[in-house]
Amino acid sequence: MDYKEHIAIVEDWPKEGVQFKDITPLMDNGPAFKAAVDEIVEYAKDKEIDIVVGPEARGFIVGCPVSYALEIGFAPVRKEGKLPRETIKVDYGLEYGKDVLTIHKDAIKPGQRVLIIDDLLATGGTIEATIDLVEQLGGEVAGCAFLIELTYLDGRSKLDGHDVLTLMQY
Ligand code: AMP
Repeated sequence: MDYKEHIAIVEDWPKEGVQFKDITPLMDNGPAFKAAVDEIVEYAKDKEIDIVVGPEARGFIVGCPVSYALEIGFAPVRKEGKLPRETIKVDYGLEYGKDVLTIHKDAIKPGQRVLIIDDLLATGGTIEATIDLVEQLGGEVAGCAFLIELTYLDGRSKLDGHDVLTLMQY
């Protein structure tokens, strides 16, 4: 499947110099979206995953159908102030300034094997923070899956030692 024909590239969005990879045409196309989800499910099948974790918002879009297909749960990672119960948090660096990601304290049980899913691996800051949250709760990151990898930003260097799947590279 040539997934790239279903990715819209938007120049200078959300700001000058950024080439935004828009996955909504892929989500719009039933067979292409199903093929992408199926490929991640296939990757995860023999990893004995207990739970899928995905950062907001596009990590939910890709992660939830994978968890449904694997018949396991999904735990959301969200910006501070969005989750209603007790959370743990991590500060992470953005290009300009800092942000905070949180997860419910009871989302992962110690020893659970976790598959982290997001739409896109750029600098790796988001995924690094998500791994930190999973590990703070005693989870074991068994794999990380993305639709898209921006290889020129070298996010993979932050995932050293982790098993990583990306379906498209730019
Ligand atoms: P990073 O933390 O730098 O790896 O950025 C990853 C997050 O930012 C992902 O959740 C993406 O949704 C979003 N993102 C970063 N760069 C882009 C881009 N060029 N196009 C689309 N989404 C992006």
